[in-house]
Amino acid sequence: MARVFVITGPSGVGKGTLIRALLARVPALELAVSATTRQPRQGESDGVSYHFLSHEEFDARVRAGEFVEWAQYSGNRYGTLRSELDARLARGVPVVLEIEVQGARQIRETMPDAVQVFIAPPSSQALRARLEGRGTDAPAQVETRLLTADAELAAQCEFTHVVVNDRLERAVEELVAVVRTELATVK
Ligand code: 5GP
Repeated sequence: MARVFVITGPSGVGKGTLIRALLARVPALELAVSATTRQPRQGESDGVSYHFLSHEEFDARVRAGEFVEWAQYSGNRYGTLRSELDARLARGVPVVLEIEVQGARQIRETMPDAVQVFIAPPSSQALRARLEGRGTDAPAQVETRLLTADAELAAQCEFTHVVVNDRLERAVEELVAVVRTELATVK
């Protein structure tokens, strides 16, 4: 069975950047495209950044059992569709999920063989600076995300692998090493 890699950690910690670098370094991996009810940001397109769903459609798909995990986050819902995983795993393709902590906990229950990596900021101040600096969220959204981040940071002890995103190249090396080691381990 192909492996599932869960990359989690607070919003703004740099999960997206690290995952882009990981996919470039380990081309066998494929990233699952999540579904969300939040509005697309500038430059995001449907089916690539996310599957953008209305609240009604998201509800209907939850009821139909189409999600392997989903969570309420910062006023919206986010989830991984079973269809993003099944075909890839059947073909033996390892899949990366970029999800927040509640979703990672659900995957831990339902897919105990999934490899979970928590990406941590070097400090809370660094996380604030990143969230404010990237300018993708309104100030009120940044504050909500930072409040959630406090709880998420407290959960990092639950994770086998913790990668501190202090310097990008160093963090990428560490993440690549975790993934390569797990891929080489037969489960
Ligand atoms: P953003 O709005 O910044 O794109 O994402 C907000 C948070 O939702 C991030 O921490 C992101 O990793 C998380 N997220 C994205 N997709 C999923 C998903 O499919 N499931 C869960 N549980 N969280 C997700």
